Amino acid sequence: MYKKETICIQSGWKPKNGEPRVLPIYQSTTFKYESSEQMGRLFDLEESGYFYSRMQNPTNDCVAQKICELEGGVAAMLTSSGQAANHYAVFNICEAGDHVVMSSTVYGGSFNLITCTMKKMGIECTVVDPDAPAEELEKAFRDHTKCVFAETIANPALVVLDIEKFAKLAHAHQVPLIVDNTFATPINCNPFKWGADIVTHSTTKYMDGHAMALGGCIVDSGNFDWAAYPEKFPGLCTPDESYHGIVYTEKFGKAAYITKATSQLMRDLGSMQSPQNAFLLNVGLETLPLRMERHCYNAQKCAEFLQSHEKVAWVNYPGLPGNKYYELAKKYMPKGTCGVISFGLKGGREAAAKMMDRLELAAIVTHVADARTSVLHPASHTHRQMNDEQLKEAGVAPDLIRLSVGIEHIDDIIADLSQSLA
Ligand SMILES: *Cc1c(COP(=O)(O)O)cnc(C)c1O
Repeated sequence: MYKKETICIQSGWKPKNGEPRVLPIYQSTTFKYESSEQMGRLFDLEESGYFYSRMQNPTNDCVAQKICELEGGVAAMLTSSGQAANHYAVFNICEAGDHVVMSSTVYGGSFNLITCTMKKMGIECTVVDPDAPAEELEKAFRDHTKCVFAETIANPALVVLDIEKFAKLAHAHQVPLIVDNTFATPINCNPFKWGADIVTHSTTKYMDGHAMALGGCIVDSGNFDWAAYPEKFPGLCTPDESYHGIVYTEKFGKAAYITKATSQLMRDLGSMQSPQNAFLLNVGLETLPLRMERHCYNAQKCAEFLQSHEKVAWVNYPGLPGNKYYELAKKYMPKGTCGVISFGLKGGREAAAKMMDRLELAAIVTHVADARTSVLHPASHTHRQMNDEQLKEAGVAPDLIRLSVGIEHIDDIIADLSQSLA
């Protein structure tokens, strides 16, 4: 097995003699066959092959394979966005009447997806404090709980998950742990090593890295034994009538979970990533290890600069000694966490808005985790309808500035922060 830097460059597309050196974009909705019988076998999942890009496309599969190797999984698939990845990851094993245990600090989009939209689909959710002791977390589980969902580093709270604690809890209740590993990326953290069963990504962030293409990915470790709990996971362990009675765990073994998600959920819900976007994602992946190293280096320097500045009230970055998650981050992400920092000014909400207006290099955008340094002030932007009281309840300090540190030269980034603070 190659190291991650090599996987990022060499895995996925493996050209044969005379084939293009670079991953081609298979810009085709459909694929040609010589016999009607063979096409029939493909539709029955009797034979593997491409027939329609809503289910699978060769460009996408090469990129999914690369991410699969980076995470150390057995199977993976791309989706049109991170939202679609998290939706499918949960919905693949939950149906109306089922229940999810979820960390309270997950990304706002995932929070809405699971507590509002999936609730309308009949799936219940219990939200838990990820820092609560195991005995407390135990109480969240029900007979019909089907998975635990959390983030390795929460966006934007920057809470580092105790992955082992969560994996042990999930397994004690015979359900898998699904973790969104978007912020850490597989370069900085491999959740499977610590017991997570399924990993999801918004590839829109560091993996693409250039703010060019929305995308998502789901990777299965192959470690969760669905067949041991057939009554809990009937979708994987009993015949699928929409495929002439195929039982995924019997026919596909360790690839059961991803095969079901591609051949059933993708077939019916259709959140496919375009091959064009998969191509861009692949270009991003080639330099991911280099960029993550620089993002983490720059973020650490910015965090240290802000912490020592007289106008700054507080800084939250897991790489700072004294941060609540410093030890967990060292354990799970020894090479660094991510490039996102949050901080507050002594002048509060008003000073935050003023400082941001003075920034010249760092742009105000609703995005994080790409090559360009950017800022967002949730109280003035994403959460602007809320007063200070409501913001506190939502866990967003009124003065919180989210800084996504890019890969420009550190001196220029700090000079910009410095002049705007002045
Ligand atoms: C952005 C993000 C998502 C949603 O991804 P999209 O690609 O925007 O749909 C999910 N999880 C995390 C942690 C994110 O940062």
